[in-house]
Amino acid sequence: MTIKYPGLPPQLGHKGTWMHPESKLARYRSGLLPETAETVIIGSGFSGVSVGYHHPEGTIILEARDFCSGASGRNGGHIAPNLFEFVDLEEVELSKSNKSAFTALQKRYCQKLNFELLNLATLKQLIEDLEFDDCEFQYSELDGVCVYFTERDAKRARAQVALLQSWGLSLPVRIFIGPEAVKHTGIGNAKCAITCPAATINPYRLVDRLASSAISNGLRLYTNTPVERVVPCIIDDEYFHKVHVRDRTVPILAKNVVLATNAFIDALIPALSTAANAPGPLVCPVKGQLLEVGATDLQQGLLVGTSLVFGDEYLVKRRDVGTLVLGGFRRYGTNRGIGNTDDNMVDDAVETALEGFMGSLLRIDPALLDKKDSWTGIMGFSRDNEPIVGRIATNCESLYVIGGFTGHGMPRIFKCGEYIAGLIAKNASSVRLPELYRASRLGASLAADR
Ligand SMILES: Cc1cc2nc3c(=O)[nH]c(=O)nc-3n(C[C@H](O)[C@H](O)[C@H](O)COP(=O)(O)OP(=O)(O)OC[C@H]3O[C@@H](n4cnc5c(N)ncnc54)[C@H](O)[C@@H]3O)c2cc1C
Repeated sequence: MTIKYPGLPPQLGHKGTWMHPESKLARYRSGLLPETAETVIIGSGFSGVSVGYHHPEGTIILEARDFCSGASGRNGGHIAPNLFEFVDLEEVELSKSNKSAFTALQKRYCQKLNFELLNLATLKQLIEDLEFDDCEFQYSELDGVCVYFTERDAKRARAQVALLQSWGLSLPVRIFIGPEAVKHTGIGNAKCAITCPAATINPYRLVDRLASSAISNGLRLYTNTPVERVVPCIIDDEYFHKVHVRDRTVPILAKNVVLATNAFIDALIPALSTAANAPGPLVCPVKGQLLEVGATDLQQGLLVGTSLVFGDEYLVKRRDVGTLVLGGFRRYGTNRGIGNTDDNMVDDAVETALEGFMGSLLRIDPALLDKKDSWTGIMGFSRDNEPIVGRIATNCESLYVIGGFTGHGMPRIFKCGEYIAGLIAKNASSVRLPELYRASRLGASLAADR
């Protein structure tokens, strides 16, 4: 399948549950657009705002639509570190014959695991310290539950955990097998359940609180300001970027530019993917879908935990609101959602699958579900499924990217934002970014216009 290059995000239509009530920042503009800025961040999702939060002074955020109306305002609400499912057992087996490859792989896996746990711990601390009370943040050591329905998947998950434990890693997990899994989860056909630390949150509210805090520290935000092009340039032997904004003839001249546009990264600098020596976009848009239903305390009690993952499906309990949010079943959608940038329309086949599964969890006829909302969002999948974070090697040295989180951004983005902020400020950043995330692995190199 040939993936088309994405353009700009579509006009904003249906927003989904998290964005109600709307934030005060929804259509916020910090006065007139400036002609120059030290740092321009493009995109006001969790990525862009995480960078701005850590580097507010001299920074402006340009957002194509309303504030945080992309994936970060529409996702499943899990901050669930991937503690073991990332382990590629075949890759481990193959690397065993080569000591240095095996050691490198162990290092990569440890970095990944620790980075996600660090992100969760940092967010938890920040939410408590800054009293972000309206974010519906719920955290527990045991409230993340991965449920497996086939013997094959159950066996694989247990092998993944066992492997990491055999390397001396202490994984904060508990495993329930067979009847124990059924008893623990209350799900009749569960073959295995593994509990782990996880949090759930209203992601829109979190990004709103971070942005509000950054604005009070000097960040400027311009919503409904789509960027159409970014051109690296040299003026009087100094490196800059021309940031071309829709309906404005004169570009904004910026020293640093951060691409935080998720599935739309390639739209701004199409030469990026060619520079990275591969056809097709660096980041591929992939559409996901969610369903929210009302659930009484009794119905919520049928399910253990607050952040449940069933392979490709994922469910959050919104205890305070009395609803359940279920996402997944992309495989039933047109082209599995691949290449789709329209976050306004739900896919009927996916909707039916979500309803069927929700009905089975609540043990009721899907027709009787108390449906509250359905919505979609666009994820940005990188070519190797790893985030793309860091400096793009132009001769300007000041073009940065933070994206490619491949449907799993909440336990990874905040510290990546801090890392980019450190690069911009030319501080030796204390953030140790997993090597797998580094943008430099793409080998992309762009030349600046004179
Ligand atoms: C349906 C769905 C469910 C998900 N569930 C989870 C989950 O439960 N847990 C988890 O960890 N992750 C989840 N994710 C992934 C997570 O939401 C993302 O990794 C994260 O939100 C990405 O943040 P971002 O800031 O990079 O992107 P976004 O939030 O998409 O922000 C990018 C912003 O850039 C703007 N933009 C784009 N182009 C331009 C332009 N040219 N000019 C100006 N602005 C522009 C967009 O309008 C958008 O606001 C899910 C994603 C989806 C879609």
